[in-house]
Amino acid sequence: MIKKIDHIAIAVKNLAEEIIRYRDVLGLEYLGSEVVAEQKVTVAFFRINDVFIELLEPIGPDSPISAFIEKKGGGLHHLALEVDDIQAAIGRLQEKNVQMLDREPKKGAHSARIAFAHPKSFSGVLYEFKQKGDES
Ligand code: ZN
Repeated sequence: MIKKIDHIAIAVKNLAEEIIRYRDVLGLEYLGSEVVAEQKVTVAFFRINDVFIELLEPIGPDSPISAFIEKKGGGLHHLALEVDDIQAAIGRLQEKNVQMLDREPKKGAHSARIAFAHPKSFSGVLYEFKQKGDES
């Protein structure tokens, strides 16, 4: 069901400053930024071989990332696992009693289809399940 770790997502307060840090201090390949309106975030991507780091900056106070940053000051937010078939993955996880935050796939960056599982099903870790879109 799971092909690989797709990305590691980190919530940040100031995306412009963090882009400089990840690109110029860590020397990672910067792939660009994108607004994901449905998630109320701006996302910046960096590549380390075939794994990506995704920085998330909230758009507005009603973004779920705003609440996370307020509570924890930013930091590691979620791990994304790539799957072949998101609909099948959601069905299988629910069969195994995983509590899903999304019972239907949502649209993610690069037209991917994504669904999150509740962190209480995985010892506090928020997992995103992701089926790549045509552009990714
Ligand atoms: Zn993600």
